[in-house]
Amino acid sequence: TGIAMCFSLGACGSSRSGESASDSTTLEAGATIGISMPTKSEERWNKDGSNLKEKLEKAGYKVILSYADDKPAQQNSDIENMVNNDAKIIVVAAKDGSAVGPAVEKARDAGATVIAYDRLIMNTDAVDYYATFQLEQVGVLEAEYIIEELGLDSGAAGPFNIELFSGSPDDNNAKYFFKGAWEKLQPYFESGALVCPSNHGGGVTKDFSEDDWQKIAVQSWKTETAQTYMESILDSSYSHGEKLDAVLSPYDGISQGVINAIESKRPDMIPGTDSWPVITGQDAMEIAITNIANEKQGETVYKNVDELGDAVYKMIIEIAEGKDVSGINGEFNNGNIDVPSLLLDPMNITIDNLSELVETGYVTQERFDTLT
Ligand code: BGC
Repeated sequence: TGIAMCFSLGACGSSRSGESASDSTTLEAGATIGISMPTKSEERWNKDGSNLKEKLEKAGYKVILSYADDKPAQQNSDIENMVNNDAKIIVVAAKDGSAVGPAVEKARDAGATVIAYDRLIMNTDAVDYYATFQLEQVGVLEAEYIIEELGLDSGAAGPFNIELFSGSPDDNNAKYFFKGAWEKLQPYFESGALVCPSNHGGGVTKDFSEDDWQKIAVQSWKTETAQTYMESILDSSYSHGEKLDAVLSPYDGISQGVINAIESKRPDMIPGTDSWPVITGQDAMEIAITNIANEKQGETVYKNVDELGDAVYKMIIEIAEGKDVSGINGEFNNGNIDVPSLLLDPMNITIDNLSELVETGYVTQERFDTLT
């Protein structure tokens, strides 16, 4: 395999992204490609995994697709298994961006190219490319929705009561989602138009900073954890009929936890009326499609995972053919290196454009009708 092993970036040390790999670096037909996904329990990764697998198999590659059950050690052994099966390219959506480092280093040492999928792999040199969606834009879209719905952009003075959540601390994305949102919301905290009545995370005031995001984080993006937090927020600060105007949630699963808590603690809040808060989300999960149709959730940030799958597929083919990877439009520092990144645009889905999820082919009309 001598030369064939020396395909693309990483294996040959000297050739890194942006520089052209040599023509001899093609990946033979039928080569193995590994796809390591974090968990089956969050809806999107199932789609992400099977989508990419299907595309690669159609192109004649062997694919090893693993789900790590949200366990970093499991993910590392999944990746080692791919290396042992001679995977030439390994695509990783990390459960824990830092913990996965040693496994991708082994992959790199064995000559594989490593692509970080959706979530960046941290603190290692052993990552060649990163493909994801504009991370801060996710938070921007969520915050802008809240700002518009409360009328803050047209001068509503408030003060409006808002509670805020961020995503999992072991996921580098979570910080960027919050950063995008906080940059938009902070000025309204500054002016007093937004206030956070609860002491969740030690309290969010105008002096909260984007670096404080872990204080309001939901470990592993868990619905139940978010529900527990929200119940205690409602008990401590909204148990005498206080109005809750908005909840910044970075993920539909967290939004569902928030909704569960409201339904159990504040039955006087009625979806579709002014008593119900503006709630954001991300991923266009099936439950969120239903929640949006029922006016329990205001918006979700939709990431077209088919588009991401296509982009990564294209990347893999280019790497396999020894070509330069196209479509790189950014870079993210992972603590060690700047990783060349391909960033797609997320989009807002609300009740007004919910049916676009059918138009883009994301859900079938039949499924959509069942969900709504
Ligand atoms: C992804 C989001 C997803 C979240 C929870 C993040 O890394 O970018 O799309 O909502 O993980 O699965």
